[in-house]
Formats: sequence, C-alpha cells, structure tokens
Amino acid sequence: MRIVLLGPPGAGKGTQAKRLARRFGIDHIATGDIFRRNVQSGTELGALAKTYMDAGELVPDDVTVAMVSEAIKEAGRGYVLDGFPRTVAQGRALDEELAAMGRPLAGALALTIDDDAAVKRISGRRTCARCQRPYNVEFGPLRSAGVCDVCGGDLVQRPDDAEDVVRRRLEVYHQSTEPLLRFYSDRGLLREIDAAGTEDEVTERVVAALEELSSVGERS
Ligand code: AMP
Repeated sequence: MRIVLLGPPGAGKGTQAKRLARRFGIDHIATGDIFRRNVQSGTELGALAKTYMDAGELVPDDVTVAMVSEAIKEAGRGYVLDGFPRTVAQGRALDEELAAMGRPLAGALALTIDDDAAVKRISGRRTCARCQRPYNVEFGPLRSAGVCDVCGGDLVQRPDDAEDVVRRRLEVYHQSTEPLLRFYSDRGLLREIDAAGTEDEVTERVVAALEELSSVGERS
C-alpha cells in the first residue's frame, strides 16, 4: 500500500500517518521530520532547509524531490508519505518516479480542517526536545508539566509553530498545496477526510477511506 497524506499544518497528518504505518506495517516517510533530523545533526541539507522552515516557506522542489526519491528507494513496497507532495510539481515528479518503478499510489487522503481550528491546535503543540515525541497541551494533559512523560526531556515549541509563522504556512498551503487536491481527484485517487474530532475518530475515517480506495483498486 502506497499512500499520500495531504492537509494543512495542524490537521494531524503526523499523528494519523504514524497510526497507519503501525496498523498496516508500512513505512512512514515524513519530509518535515527528515528535514528536522538534518537540522539537528547539522548537515548541509539541514542548514539549507532551516532558512525556509523557520520562515514558514517551502524548501525548493528540486532539493525535496531528490530527498524523497532516495527515501522511497530505501523503503519497502508500502509507505505513507506525510507532508509530500506539497506542490503540483512535486506531485508530478512523484507520479513519474512511481510509474517508472511500476508501483503507483493507491490513493491520496486529504485531511480537512479550517484555518482557525488549525491555529488553535498548533498553539498547543509541544515536542520533546530529546525523543521528539509530540504532545498537545490543549488535548492530552501531561503527567508533569513541561516534561516528556516517556523520557523526561524538555517540551518545546517548534520554531515554525509560532503563530505568525503558522499563518504564513497556512497561506502557503492554500496557494501551493491545495491545487494537489484537484490533481489527485482528476486521477480518481483523492478522498477528503474531516479532521475534526478525536484522533481515534479521524483514524476510523481514514481507514474507511483506504478500504474504499482499495476495493475500487481491486475492481479496476
Ligand atoms: P511539516 O513537519 O510537514 O509541517 O514540515 C515542516 C516544514 O518543512 C515545512 O513548513 C517546509 O518548510 C518543510 N517541508 C516539509 N515537507 C516539504 C515539502 N514536501 N516541500 C517543501 N518543503 C517541505
């Protein structure tokens, strides 16, 4: 199973992608996580990506496409792409690469949420500086404030989760990423999923959409 997860920042792509990967035994490829790991380990790619990420802008397509292409080659036959593609040019590049490999996508799932709800979710988001575990102070009460329940590391806000940067990321989503919804619906691959509600409720909707997509795939 090869799927793409689309949606604005705050829609819960990371959470749902992790759950799908666990449930279906597929790889989770998250471009934002790969960039952040590169920033943390001080690579050249990390230094380049950071200038764009901190401003809420997209890392250039050529850099991102090359990075994902490598990740896909290393992945098994199944994966969920979280945060890629983010532009129609990236979508085209992915299509071409997968067609050449003879391993097309099963579908593209778009998580939908309005901008105000996204900003509210993100304002509560914290990440463990040590193990990267995500938290949300709005939803899940922490056992001890400001500290990771699992490893005791400090909980910090991502630099690009500051409200002004989030507003810019949402603009970039509407401008550059939303056209991908049409791109995938033209190919019969798009399913839109309401991202409001609990993580479990959204997962149920996502799994139902995937089952529906795979039954369409078997019929065609
Ligand atoms: P995310 O963790 O998915 O919210 O991504 C964080 C940041 O990484 C984005 O705001 C972009 O700056 C960068 N990024 C992640 N994925 C992509 C992509 N597919 N294309 C360009 N930039 C990306």
